Formats: sequence, C-alpha cells, structure tokens
Amino acid sequence: MKFIIIGGGVAGTTAAEYLRKLDTEAEITLVSEEHHSLYSRVLLPHLIKGKVPRERIFLKKDDWYYKQNIDVLRGVVVEKLDVKNKFVLLTGGRELEFDKLLIATGGEVRTIDDDLRGVSYFRTLDDADHISQLLNELPHGARGGIYGGGFIACEYLNLFRHFEMPTTIAFRGKHFWSRVLEAEAGKLINDHLVKEGVEVHVSADLVSLTGETQLEGFVTTAGEHPCSMLGVGIGVTPDFSYLSEAGVETGNGVKANEYLETNIENIFTAGDVAEFYDSIAGRHLNVKNWMNAMSQGRAVAQNMAGTKTPFELVSSYSINTLGLEMIFVGDVDKDAVDKVHVIGSADAGGVTQVYERDGKVVGGVMIGRNTDRKPITDGIKEKRSAEEVIKSVNN
Ligand SMILES: Cc1cc2nc3c(=O)[nH]c(=O)nc-3n(C[C@H](O)[C@H](O)[C@H](O)COP(=O)(O)OP(=O)(O)OC[C@H]3O[C@@H](n4cnc5c(N)ncnc54)[C@H](O)[C@@H]3O)c2cc1C
Repeated sequence: MKFIIIGGGVAGTTAAEYLRKLDTEAEITLVSEEHHSLYSRVLLPHLIKGKVPRERIFLKKDDWYYKQNIDVLRGVVVEKLDVKNKFVLLTGGRELEFDKLLIATGGEVRTIDDDLRGVSYFRTLDDADHISQLLNELPHGARGGIYGGGFIACEYLNLFRHFEMPTTIAFRGKHFWSRVLEAEAGKLINDHLVKEGVEVHVSADLVSLTGETQLEGFVTTAGEHPCSMLGVGIGVTPDFSYLSEAGVETGNGVKANEYLETNIENIFTAGDVAEFYDSIAGRHLNVKNWMNAMSQGRAVAQNMAGTKTPFELVSSYSINTLGLEMIFVGDVDKDAVDKVHVIGSADAGGVTQVYERDGKVVGGVMIGRNTDRKPITDGIKEKRSAEEVIKSVNN
C-alpha cells in the first residue's frame, strides 16, 4: 500500500506515525513544504520570548522519520493532483503514485498588498525567526502595530508587551472575533486592552503602509498609526486551486464526512484544512486548533488503514491575552446557531457565551470565566439542553 501525505504539520505527521503503527509494510511518503521536522507552533511565541530553547520546540527529531521508515520530502510542494491516475505532481516535476492520499495542508497566511521592512506574519518557525530578528533590531520603546482582531493579534499583543513596546492595534470589526462574539464579550476585550494601555482602533480597514523601505506606520480608515514594526494577523487562506481542478470538493476547507474521507474515494483530509462533518455539532466544521489537528491525524490514519473510525471530539482553544483568559469550545459560529446566551458582563470582568441549536448546547466562549469551561464542555459532549447547562454555569 502506498500512502502519500501532503503536509508535515501535526495532522500529517501524526497520521504518518499512526499509519506506520497500523501497517508496518506500507510505503509512507510525507511531502512537506517546510524544511523543518515537526515543531510546535504553540511554542513559537515562547521561543521568541526566549522562554524555551530552540531544540524544545521540535516534536520529532530528524532521524525519527528514517527510523519509522517514513520517506519525507522537504521543501517540496504538491502542485497537481490526478485522481484518475492516482498520482501527485511535485515542484520540480517529480510524480508520486499513491493508493491513498491525505491532504493535511493547514493554511497559508493571508497577506496585505504592501510590504516594507518591519512587516511580519506569524504562522511558521521561519516567521518566528523573522519576528525575533525584527524585535531584536528595534530600539527600546519602539512602537508595535497590529492589524487584525483574532488569535494571531493576541499573540502579537503578548509579544509586544513582553518586549516592553507600546502598542497600537486596529481591526475591521467593532471588536475581536466579530463572527463569534456578541457585543458584550467584544466590549470586555476592548476595555481590557485599553486598560492595559493598548491604543485600540475599531472598524478600521487597512489603507496603506507608510515609509520608504523601512516601515514607519500604517494607515487605516480610522487614521494614521505610527509604528516601527507591524504584525499582520488577518487569517489564513488555503490554496484549493489544484484540489478543485481535480474535483475534490472544497468550501471553507476540504469537505469530508465524519471518517475524514473527501468526496473522492481514497482521498482523505485532516487538521486545519479539513471541513469535516462533526457528528456532535451535527454539521460541517472547520476547526483550527492543535488538539483537533492531532486527534484528526490519529483518526484519519485508522480510516486510511481500513478501520472505519468516526472522528468525534469537542476541541478547545484557549489563549491568555495580557492577563485575560479566553477559551473557545465546540461550535462557536454565531450565524450557525439559533441563539447565543450571554452570561456575565464587561463591567463584572467576565462574559460567557453559550451557543444553542435545536435546544442543545453546541459551543461556548468563556472570557475571564474559566470555571464555566467544564460544565459547557460536558454539556456539548452529552448533548444537554442549553437551559440545563446555563443553570449549571455559575451566574
Ligand atoms: C503562532 C501560533 C500559535 C498557535 N497557538 C495555538 C495554541 O496555543 N493552541 C492551539 O490549539 N492552537 C494553536 N495554534 C494553531 C495550531 O498550531 C494549528 O491548529 C495546527 O498547527 C494545525 O496543524 P495542521 O497540521 O493542520 O496544519 P499546519 O501546521 O499548517 O501544517 C500544514 C503543513 O502543510 C504544508 N503545505 C501546505 N500546502 C502544501 C503543499 N501543497 N505541498 C506540501 N506541503 C504543503 C504547510 O507548509 C505546512 O507546513 C497556533 C498557531 C500559530 C501559528
């Protein structure tokens, strides 16, 4: 059996590891755009802050692949997929045949049109090295700018605070995560940032950068914001062109059923790139967190090896931003639920949102209210009524 895995992140590498456990004879090839062994993206901010040594972020040593008899092709991209003749075409023109294929390609960062020295993005280890270099070159007290209102913006807020940089943030919505949060939770975050001394500009669309070759600031519809370094965190956009051309169905991600099978036989998907049928939520979800990617890597290996295993997980993502703890659990798309219940208030310093669909709780967001995490997570797993879960959440 020939397995090809596209993407050497946690989803692809975990799948390779479990496939090897399940099939000692199979030919397993991992095609990885990045040059590094598997590393933890979660630890990258700690690497930049100097809190973990470089060697600790690597989750697999270089010789691990060899010892597992996994053929890893680094610095190579799959450019074309031929589903009829079952091969992929790599950069450089090489073709690889497969019996079963896994698409675990994560996402490419969305970029802005302009570029100047001082503009950064944050997805990969190479990005982390670039950010470290920029931070180390700046004089003490230089101002950091952030464009975006999501997870990566939170990482930049923490980084700039660590390096004692005054910070300006601007984003398009009225508050962070406008597709997820109601106004009260958004206000809590905005208020917190202002209290922490961050200059916050809402409803601000990027217009341009200022500076000749070196960044001097950025301009949004809310005004001109001087800064020496800009962190851009405006989401990811996977490249689906070669998949769509091959007939693989895509939407927000690569569409898959609960077994992580795509619409094409013997082609599977896992991790950030997958838009899978979540049987707990009862609809397709595109989940972007470490726990989800790793667990899907394991589940998809079972399915690729021939043991039908539905993927079932209530995954979560938590981040502490300038001292404010934020936790996201389950299905938290406001547009996909019947009602979002808001508990607590910005003034009280904590807001929990409970997402209800067909009377059941399907998701939860806790900002400054960590203790609500367990009852909500249990409620989602056990498909309990929103009413019951809300009662059990400490009001
Ligand atoms: C800075 C940062 C901090 C984070 N912190 C947290 C956290 O605290 N908690 C949490 O739960 N999650 C966190 N995340 C998110 C988490 O890291 C991701 O959800 C997870 O890494 C996704 O893994 P993946 O394998 O699906 O995709 P990826 O890790 O993106 O791996 C996909 C790989 O495929 C490669 N690739 C893409 N296209 C091709 C192609 N055509 N051919 C070959 N290779 C290709 C890509 O280059 C990439 O290396 C963080 C992410 C970042 C960037």
